[in-house]
Amino acid sequence: MNLDLVAQTLTELGEPSYRLDQVWKWAAEGASSYEQMTNLPKRLRDALTEQVPFSTLTVDHEARASDGTIKVLLRTEDDRVLEAVLMRYRDGRRSLCVSSQSGCPLTCSFCATGKMKFGRNLSAWEILDQALYFRRIEQVDHCVFMGMGEPMMNLDNVLAACRRFPDIGITHRRTAISTVGWIPGIEQMTADPMPLRLALSLHAADGALRSDLMPVNDRYPLADVLKACEAFYEQKRRMVFIEYVMLAGINDSVGQARQLARVLDPKMYKINLIPYNPTDVGIAGSSPKAIEAFRDELEARGLNATIRLTRGRDIAAACGQLAAGALTEQAAVAVGAGSS
Ligand code: SAH
Repeated sequence: MNLDLVAQTLTELGEPSYRLDQVWKWAAEGASSYEQMTNLPKRLRDALTEQVPFSTLTVDHEARASDGTIKVLLRTEDDRVLEAVLMRYRDGRRSLCVSSQSGCPLTCSFCATGKMKFGRNLSAWEILDQALYFRRIEQVDHCVFMGMGEPMMNLDNVLAACRRFPDIGITHRRTAISTVGWIPGIEQMTADPMPLRLALSLHAADGALRSDLMPVNDRYPLADVLKACEAFYEQKRRMVFIEYVMLAGINDSVGQARQLARVLDPKMYKINLIPYNPTDVGIAGSSPKAIEAFRDELEARGLNATIRLTRGRDIAAACGQLAAGALTEQAAVAVGAGSS
């Protein structure tokens, strides 16, 4: 919901300014239409229904996995695609994975989003509308910016959306922003008063290998990125999550675990080892045995390392797979356009 547009419309209609808060409160609590906002006069509900789209996004497709995960393919008003996911855990946690951009300008070799054409940054309203989509289904309490895009390249809009998350039920402490190591963004997050979580996609401690996997490493080398993460930790006293995607024969040897342990201070970092989800880029994920040996090596060196659960694999909703569906969808659109 574009609240700027709601505000402008309310002004044009000569409504008092508290109406904006009323509208937002209903939306944040899961209302699915202006009609449901019963403390607004009927004529105002009708006017809003007519003049302001309830969401900035429309739904192209929704898929539900056997483990309860829900993935939705969404479309902006100018026809850009993006995806968002709701993960449901047995302990009751409801965690969202949202996109910050349609596509991604970075070109990490193992990531499907990096292969699709970059669209644009999403607005704060488009980010919020992903969360509201799921809030209309049920209560939600966690959010990670691990969908499409690099959140730090669109940080103003990401932070603007985060500012409103608590109204939806997601506190700042339960919100994590994941980055390839975009230093200006890490610095801006460090200076921001919200107690958000920082996650760094590291993937290789060796500089040459990291640059191969993530070309952004040439621009912001790992040593400098870790300095920025350490400044974040000093300022916030919040541990930084390390994301490390496990690629067979590429970054998963015990020697590489040792190398990783040498650059990470156990008091500042928590490591998530991510099983690689197959995409069509021709890279294979590490075996469970290799992932366990990697984890054991890190733990032997005093680091806290967890093997991440894979959710929603049967609907291609898992990490890094979000773009795949969108690509198929775009291909379908392209074919449709070609034949007409
Ligand atoms: N651009 C940000 C956030 C989006 S990606 C970042 O890179 O951190 C979220 C995480 O998914 C990143 O750690 C990314 O490396 C990882 N990822 C990408 N493709 C994947 C795949 N196919 N399987 C598992 N994880 C993947």
